[in-house]
Amino acid sequence: MKTYRIATIPGDGIGKEVVPAGAEVLQALAASGGGFRFEFEDFGWGGDWYRAHGEMMPADGLEALKGKDAILFGSAGDPQIPDHITLWGLRLKICQGFDQYANVRPTRILPGIDAPLKRCKPEDLDWVIVRENSEGEYAGVGGRVHQGHPIEAATDVSIMTRAGVERVLRFAFKLAQSRPRKQLTVVTKSNAQRHAMVMWDEIANEVAREFPDVKWDKELVDAMTARMVNKPATLDTVVATNLHADILSDLAAALAGSLGIAPTANLDPERRYPSMFEPIHGSAFDIMGKGLANPVGTFWSCVMLLEHLGEQEAAQRLMAAIEAVTADTSLHTGDLGGTARTADVTRAVIARLAR
Ligand code: NAD
Ligand code: MN
Repeated sequence: MKTYRIATIPGDGIGKEVVPAGAEVLQALAASGGGFRFEFEDFGWGGDWYRAHGEMMPADGLEALKGKDAILFGSAGDPQIPDHITLWGLRLKICQGFDQYANVRPTRILPGIDAPLKRCKPEDLDWVIVRENSEGEYAGVGGRVHQGHPIEAATDVSIMTRAGVERVLRFAFKLAQSRPRKQLTVVTKSNAQRHAMVMWDEIANEVAREFPDVKWDKELVDAMTARMVNKPATLDTVVATNLHADILSDLAAALAGSLGIAPTANLDPERRYPSMFEPIHGSAFDIMGKGLANPVGTFWSCVMLLEHLGEQEAAQRLMAAIEAVTADTSLHTGDLGGTARTADVTRAVIARLAR
C-alpha cells in the first residue's frame, strides 16, 4: 500500500484546532479505502516555539520537511508577537525556502452557503486565483534608515523577475487550459506602475502565444474588485502579483460566504520540494481556543493536497462529503451564522466518508 508522509504544522491560534481536524479527516479517508495510508509528523512551530526558542521554527527546519510528500499548515500569527515576525519566520520561510511559487486559490459558493451577492447564482462564481508567491511586493527587499528620528525613511522594494513572472503566467495559462471554460484574466496595474507591471503585460502577451486555445483578457486591479462584485460570471481563472492576489483572494473568499471556507495550495509545480496546503484564514484571535473555528477551509485544502498527490478519486470523495455537510445548515459554524462547533463539522464529514 502506498504511504504518504505528511508534515502537519498547526502554528498558532485556530490553526491548532483546524489542522488536527484536517489530519483526522485524512486518516478517516485513508481508512475508508483507496489504497493508500498517511504517516503524519507534527511540528510544534509558531508562537509557542518562539517564546521558548526565540525563533518561529528551527534554523534547520526545512531539512526536516524536505522528505515529506506534502505539508498541511494552519496559521502563523500570535497576539504577543509582531505579525511580520510570525509571518516571515514561519510561513514565508517555508514558501520561499521551497520555492512554492504558485499559490492557487479556488473559490466557489458551496451548497447551503448564503453568499452576500444576492444576484449571483452559485454557478456564476467558480474561480481559481493564481497568486505569484515567491517575489514581487513580498520579496522582502528594503530597509529603514534614521530609525526613530524625524527624518526616518523606509522602503519595501518590489522585485519582479522575467523568470519569476514567466513561470507563474505559464502555470496560470496551463491551469486555465485544464478548466472547462479555458479562460484567463491577467491582473496588473500597468497604468500607474510603469516598469514591472508593463513587463508583466509584455510577458503575458508572449506566454499567451503558447496557449492559442485559452481566451484571455487583462484587467487593472482596482477595476478587478468591481468586476468580481458586479460581473462574477465573466471570470474563471485569474493570475496576479503576490500583493494584488492576496487582496483579491480575501475578497473572493468573502464573496463565497466566509473566510473560514477558503483553501489554498502553495505549489512547487516542478515538485523539487514538498508543496504546502492551508486554509487562507489566519489565527482568528477572537475565537481561538474555543472550538468554534470552521474547519471547512482546512478540509478543502486537504482536497487540494490529495489532488496534488494524484489521488483524484479520494479528493472527489472528500469534496463530496464536505459539500454534503455544508448543505446542512445545522452544521454551520458561527462565521456562517450557525452554532455548530469544529468537532461537530469534523465528525459529520468523517461520518459521510464512512458511508
Ligand atoms: P483572521 O483570518 O485570523 O480573522 C479574520 C476574521 O475571520 C475573524 O473575525 C475570525 O474570527 C474570522 N475567521 C477566520 N477564520 C475563521 C474560521 N476558520 N472559522 C470562523 N471564523 C473565522 O485574520 P486577521 O484577524 O487579519 O489575522 C489574525 C492573525 O492571523 C494575524 O496575526 C495575522 O497576521 C495572521 N494571519 C495569518 C495567515 C497565515 O498564516 N496564512 C493568514 C492571515 C492572517
Ligand atoms: Mn492574505
